[in-house]
Amino acid sequence: MQTETGARGRLNWLLRMAPEVERAEERDFGAERIRHLRHAIIVGLIVYNIYNLTSLHLMADIQPFTVAMRLLVLVPGSLVIFYLVPRVPPAIRELLLLGGMFVASLLPLYLLYISQSSYATYTLGELPLVLLFGNMLLVLRFRLALIFTAVTCLAALFVIHAKPGLDENLIFPLTVQVVTGLFFTLYGNWHVERQRCLTYLARYDAQNRADLAERRGDELRDLTLTDMLTGIANRRHLDETLSDWLATRGEVLLLMVDVDHFKTFNDRFGHVEGDDCLRRIATALATFAARHDGFAARYGGEEFTLLFAVDAETGGTFLADRLVRTVRELSIPHPARADGLTTVTVSVGYAGTGEGGVREARDLITRADLALYEAKSAGRNRSKAG
Ligand code: GH3
Ligand code: MG
Ligand code: MG
Repeated sequence: MQTETGARGRLNWLLRMAPEVERAEERDFGAERIRHLRHAIIVGLIVYNIYNLTSLHLMADIQPFTVAMRLLVLVPGSLVIFYLVPRVPPAIRELLLLGGMFVASLLPLYLLYISQSSYATYTLGELPLVLLFGNMLLVLRFRLALIFTAVTCLAALFVIHAKPGLDENLIFPLTVQVVTGLFFTLYGNWHVERQRCLTYLARYDAQNRADLAERRGDELRDLTLTDMLTGIANRRHLDETLSDWLATRGEVLLLMVDVDHFKTFNDRFGHVEGDDCLRRIATALATFAARHDGFAARYGGEEFTLLFAVDAETGGTFLADRLVRTVRELSIPHPARADGLTTVTVSVGYAGTGEGGVREARDLITRADLALYEAKSAGRNRSKAG
């Protein structure tokens, strides 16, 4: 209900939608409209030429001329429009239709005007049918239907009032018949066009809401997988990725990384500085992982985990040592350490699935953890294989 009201508010009295909505509608329904138009043009052309037969009786004096006009002007013109409809921009396409309809409605009025036949007036009965075709079958855009109907109406009124020799008693009833007939077709066009716009606007809004919900869903999911402090993947993301990799990739190498003497870092500089330090290390680890097609996450506290789809035998030492060096080269001052070093370092324990090894996340983490413990015992700032 709210959508309906909102859609109505965005439709002006000429039934124009916002340009971006019209473009979207063209994307969604342009091809369908083109198919419909080409079909209608052929049907219209056949029916219209049947009026050659009525002219035979009603405008006998200019019969060859009416047939020639229909066959030599209207038929080729319509075929040109039929050809162009799928090949021109939508705005031109709609204008072409308007042009074609003008010829179709003004030509018989002109023939009626010049015919001397006393029956010629009866051809006016065909006029609302031509309008019905343009406004209701082709469904000219309402703003164009308005122009089409108004101009045809004025032309018809001119012919009724100015045609020499027209029975005076016919002028009033013909005026009423023509005006009401044309008005009905315009009203029908407005109704159909309005429904088209409202339906599309509702669809457009629904599509936008669905897109927004999907984006929000994605953002929310990203948030649930992101570590709030460092911005890299969190523990949950690690768990999902590890089990995915263990299920789908050949070799998996897991590195457990722990910042050395971090407690004393915090004690010396405070937790805010400590947080900054963790962020810098996390960024360095994520870059390192990305460079080697790996994955980096914060395991918790001052511990991080990296995954690589490589064999531990060949890639383990290389990657772990490089990683230790990468953090050391950040050169974050740590004057409070008791082991003689003065910058922040990490220790790394790593383990791989190996040839026929157990492909269990718990097992991999436990082995990397034990190796990490060994690296710590051996003096820190180094890596050990598990
Ligand atoms: P080791 O070399 O043996 O790893 O020593 P350590 O001091 O790093 O290890 P310990 O486990 O004693 O201390 C870890 C410290 O990490 C304690 C805790 O205050 C700090 N820490 C854990 N999470 C955070 C955090 O999110 N922010 C900050 N600033 N500090 C953290
Ligand atoms: Mg620790
Ligand atoms: Mg530590």
